[in-house]
Amino acid sequence: MPSGYPTVLVCYKGQGIGKESTTMKIWRAVKTNFFSQGFADNNNPIYREWGMLGHGGYDWVEYQGNPIYWDMDIRGTVLKVEVDSNGGIGVVVLTQSQEGNFKHIFWHILPNPPVSPGDILETGNVLAYADSTGKATGSHLHRGMKEVELDSFGNWATKNHDNGYFGYLPIEAYFTNEFVLDYLARLKKQVSLLSQLVEALRALIGLQKKLKNIYVP
Ligand SMILES: [Zn+2]
Repeated sequence: MPSGYPTVLVCYKGQGIGKESTTMKIWRAVKTNFFSQGFADNNNPIYREWGMLGHGGYDWVEYQGNPIYWDMDIRGTVLKVEVDSNGGIGVVVLTQSQEGNFKHIFWHILPNPPVSPGDILETGNVLAYADSTGKATGSHLHRGMKEVELDSFGNWATKNHDNGYFGYLPIEAYFTNEFVLDYLARLKKQVSLLSQLVEALRALIGLQKKLKNIYVP
């Protein structure tokens, strides 16, 4: 794993895609942890226009030009670099494991990513650089995941295509608990500030008592 790859060591195991997730883990694909939109958020009418019930993936804010890393704990094979009708550019990666076969998409990236179809990705390999190509209001990574199966023509066909998200799935259960750790770090800071406040109040009360002692008639 290259240095600078943003990992944490503890892993969250939860319910994933209707079953217990035990073999697949998803680390962090970007260095920031600014999670800007989750799965199925539907504040923007664009998703209905696209025929989806809501957002079919996960968005992290990332500065333009910053690396996007292969975030799975298993190897992936680059299937293609794709350009959508809005000019959005993405890398599509396949994984095959006991959990099933999955397509992973990393979208809104800069043109000419450093990977080509057939490349094998190890955890932490850089697969793209962040941008805002396509339908995006700012530079960010859109990450999505679909379960796929080989059809009779030898193509990877999407399972659950009619789930309202063209087969894109909620994948929180596979996320490592980096979010929890970040939250805990923030909480710790807040507790520390609160305890400083308590100390300050205690000192103030002490001062008030002293003042009372001075002015009691
Ligand atoms: Zn998105």
